[in-house]
Amino acid sequence: MTRRTLVVALCASLLGRAALAQTPVDSSLAAYIDGITAIDSHAHPMLPIPAGAPPDTDFDALPLDGVPPFPLQARLRPDNPEWRDAHRALYGVTSTDTGAAYRDALASAQRSVAQREGTHFPDWVLDRSGIDEMMANRIALGPGLSPPRFRWVAFDDALMLPLDTRAEASRTPDTRSLYPKETTLLRRYMHDLGLRALPASLEAYVARVVAPTLERQRAGGAVSIKFEAAYLRPLDFDDPDPVLARRVYARYVSGGTPTHAEYKALEDYLFRVIVRQAGRDGMSVQIHCLETYGGFYDAAGSAPHLLEPALDDSTLRGTTIILIHGGWPLIDETQTLLAKPNVYTDISAMTLILEPAELARVLRQWLGEWPDKVLFGTDAFDDAPAYGWAESAWLGTRTARRALAMALTGMMRDDEIDRTRAEQLARMVMRDNAVAAYHLHLN
Ligand SMILES: [Zn+2]
Repeated sequence: MTRRTLVVALCASLLGRAALAQTPVDSSLAAYIDGITAIDSHAHPMLPIPAGAPPDTDFDALPLDGVPPFPLQARLRPDNPEWRDAHRALYGVTSTDTGAAYRDALASAQRSVAQREGTHFPDWVLDRSGIDEMMANRIALGPGLSPPRFRWVAFDDALMLPLDTRAEASRTPDTRSLYPKETTLLRRYMHDLGLRALPASLEAYVARVVAPTLERQRAGGAVSIKFEAAYLRPLDFDDPDPVLARRVYARYVSGGTPTHAEYKALEDYLFRVIVRQAGRDGMSVQIHCLETYGGFYDAAGSAPHLLEPALDDSTLRGTTIILIHGGWPLIDETQTLLAKPNVYTDISAMTLILEPAELARVLRQWLGEWPDKVLFGTDAFDDAPAYGWAESAWLGTRTARRALAMALTGMMRDDEIDRTRAEQLARMVMRDNAVAAYHLHLN
C-alpha cells in the first residue's frame, strides 16, 4: 500500500466510523419497529373524567401522594424537554412560550382533545403511541378503560396483611402512609364478598377471602395480579412455616399487634398461597422490582435475588411471574432469574428513566440470552398535568422503539443476527412475549 493509498484508506475508514457514529440505527429496521403495534406490559391509565365529576381514585393501591416529598430521576423531572416533544406529538402544542403562557396553551389543547374524545380518550392515547393493548394496573377498570385495549391487573398485597399493621407501618415515614391504604383495600375486598369480619382461622381466611377475591378478579377480566410489596417490606419471601403462620393469624385475628417476625411469617405464607392460586386461576403475577420510589424506600429490599427462594418453590411454577421494571439497576440479578422457566421481566419505567442508548445496552445484554423473556412496558402514570399517563405512554414507547432499534442494529453489525431475526426479536419484545406471559388470546 502506497503512502497515498494509506492516507485515502485511513480517511475512508475515519469517514466510515464517523458515519457509523452518526447512524447508530439501521433506518429501515427502525421504521419496521415503529410500525409494530405494541403490548404494554405495565401502566397506570386513568379514567377519562368528565368536567365536574369526582376524581379517579382507583388508579393505584399505593398512591404516593401521602409519602414525604422525594426526588425523581432526572429524565422524569418537569424540565426534561422531551415532555414538550410529547405535547407536540399528542396535542399539537407548538408554543415556544415558557411558564404560565405555555401551561395555559397546553391545558387548553389537552381540554379540547379530552372533550372531543370523551370516553374514547384512553383509546386515543394508545393509538397515538402505537400501543395495541395496555396492562392496566388499577384497583378497578371503568368507563373508557375496557378490554381488549385495556387488560386489568389487580392489586393483591392487601391480602397478605389481614392483621393490625400499625407496627409494620411505623418503620419509616413512607410506610406510615402506605400500610393504611392496604388495610382500606382489604376492607373493600371483604365488603365486595359480603364479609364484615375476618374468619377465625387462617384456613378459613384463605378459603373465604383470598381465594374468592382472586376468583372475582379473574372473573372481572384480570389477566394478572400485582405485588407492590417492595414499598412495604423486603422481597425475601422465605420458605413459609405454615404452623407458625396459622398460630400468628389465630393469635391476632381478634386484636393485638404481631411482632415483625410474626407478621413476616404470615406474609411469607400468604404470598405463596396467593401466587399459587393466581396461576391456578389463569393469572400471571407482576412484582415491582426497582430502585425506588420514595425517600425512605428500601432499595436493598427490592433486589431481584431476594425473590429466588420463592421463584425456586416448585409449587409456584404453574404461575407466570413478571419482574416489573427489570429490577433496574440490578439487571444482572434479573438476568439470572430469567433462567427459571416461569419468570419474565419487562422494561416498564426503564423506558422513562433511561435514555435510549443506555436502555439499548440492557436490551442487548438480555436478548443475547433470553430473547423470549423480555417484555416492552411504559409504566405510564399521572404525575402532573404536564406529564400525565398520556405523555409518559408516548415517551416510554418512543424510548423503547429507539433503544430496540439501537440494540438490534448493533447485533446485526456484529453478525450476531440477520435482518429477519432482528425483526422477529423486535416483534417478540414489543408484543409477542407479552402474549405468552399474560396468556392473551389475540385474534
Ligand atoms: Zn407502575
